[in-house]
Amino acid sequence: APVHATVLAEAAGRGEHPALVDGLTGRTIGYAELVRAVERTAAGFAAAGLRKGDVIALHSPNTIAYPVVFLAASRAGLVVTTLNVLSTVDDIVKQVRDSGARWLVTVSMLLPVATQAAERSGIEEVLVCDTADGHRSVLELPGDAAPEIEFDLRRDLFALPYSSGTTGHPKGVMLSHHNVATNLNQSGAAWHDDGQGERVLAVLPFFHIFGITIMLNYLRKGSTLVVLPSFDLARFLGAIQEHRITRVFAVPPIVLALAKHPDVDGYDTSSVREILCAAAPLDEDLANACARRLGARVLQGYGMTELSPVSHLISDEDRDQPPGCVGRLVSRTEARVVDPVTGADLGVGEVGELWVRGPQVMLGYLGRPEETDATVDADGWLHTGDVATVDGDGYWYIVDRVKELIKYKGYQVAPAELEAVLLSDPRVADAAVIGVYVDGAEVPKAFVVRAPGADLDAEEVMAFVADRVAPYKKVRLVEFIDAVPRALSGKILRRELRKR
Ligand code: ATP
Ligand code: MG
Repeated sequence: APVHATVLAEAAGRGEHPALVDGLTGRTIGYAELVRAVERTAAGFAAAGLRKGDVIALHSPNTIAYPVVFLAASRAGLVVTTLNVLSTVDDIVKQVRDSGARWLVTVSMLLPVATQAAERSGIEEVLVCDTADGHRSVLELPGDAAPEIEFDLRRDLFALPYSSGTTGHPKGVMLSHHNVATNLNQSGAAWHDDGQGERVLAVLPFFHIFGITIMLNYLRKGSTLVVLPSFDLARFLGAIQEHRITRVFAVPPIVLALAKHPDVDGYDTSSVREILCAAAPLDEDLANACARRLGARVLQGYGMTELSPVSHLISDEDRDQPPGCVGRLVSRTEARVVDPVTGADLGVGEVGELWVRGPQVMLGYLGRPEETDATVDADGWLHTGDVATVDGDGYWYIVDRVKELIKYKGYQVAPAELEAVLLSDPRVADAAVIGVYVDGAEVPKAFVVRAPGADLDAEEVMAFVADRVAPYKKVRLVEFIDAVPRALSGKILRRELRKR
């Protein structure tokens, strides 16, 4: 079935059980109301002249309207391209032109940027999903009935999210209904939980594939999503306490804050049973510290936009999974570890590039056939660009990205490993490592944020690391900074550090 039908299959029967709760105002949308809003909005899209396959760009922080618009677009056969909420006018212009979006749907707060971008990019109309003078609301368009659409599930796109642009330019990732609906089955089965009883904090951005899959998975399960517009520690902890949140989906900086920030102890977080982290490498000790402090399990998963997004997860049956792993393969998914130079398959315990094949592999990058071919080979294997290894029990570990590895005198040094060592120093609040060239040779450089009140100099940082790693991995340069630049999806923006 198409994605909206998969997600809403049982929704109407859940009546007034809350589907979406605004974590700031408490405004709530029940399941039956969600179904009606999706139908009404889909009817409005059709009446306004949008047709199957048309793209609309969605530019909004997380709100309870976001899932309504997304599912209604799917119901009407439209394709949503999600815009990073921090997009500049130029970013929007680029993505709108690239994706061919007809409408730009935003919120009143973002109208100044959105309207400028629309003028330059061939957008037909700027609408809002809240209220604003002079702009129609997508949720209030007149319309009779949602159109009946014939879907070709393997070809028709459900969404066109853009990859995060961590390693290059963001690329439009074509995800079919089949890709995403299948991946909901694959991930949903592994996240064994209490469906309607779960209260999930939806703070990761809905514009990113991680946030999208949480939204779709937990609406499908009948859970309650408590929606926050952005990560702010006090508001985040307050929402956990007030709404008795049972599941938290996180990225490493959130786990870092939960493990290290002094304010955490001031809140009742006892309702949280599981914290699932993905999107960037998470250090084992940090995960343990967070788990102990909150009395919750901290689990990892692995995915990427091109994988709709999940290929690896720890399921509930894996009570004894080894620390630091990202889990096992989800169903119907194959993976290999390949020597990036020779292309040879590597064995258990060996480290190489992760390749994945399965029904969740994207159709391709929009308008970029060469990059598609370089990423998905003729046999359907997606070359992830990540360095990984698997143990004899089928548990997988992500080391880092191929592109981030620092080549020091013929050795490979993973920034993620050094960052983990740095974070284990209580004098360090946050850290990031990149390779920089000194006299033509690449060496690891650490950017360090001192913990409040900590007295720490560069020599001490280097000595701390040198005591804990092999000599070739030593940090050789240190710079103190106020904050590590990160994307909203939690990834370290190493290119910003390189620019410094
Ligand atoms: P771009 O492809 O545009 O450079 P991106 O790869 O950051 O950006 P995403 O699709 O958002 O875009 O992120 C996928 C990447 O996130 C993976 O390739 C991997 O590097 C990283 N990642 C995801 N989960 C994990 C994890 N559990 N541990 C380590 N890294 C992870
Ligand atoms: Mg990528």
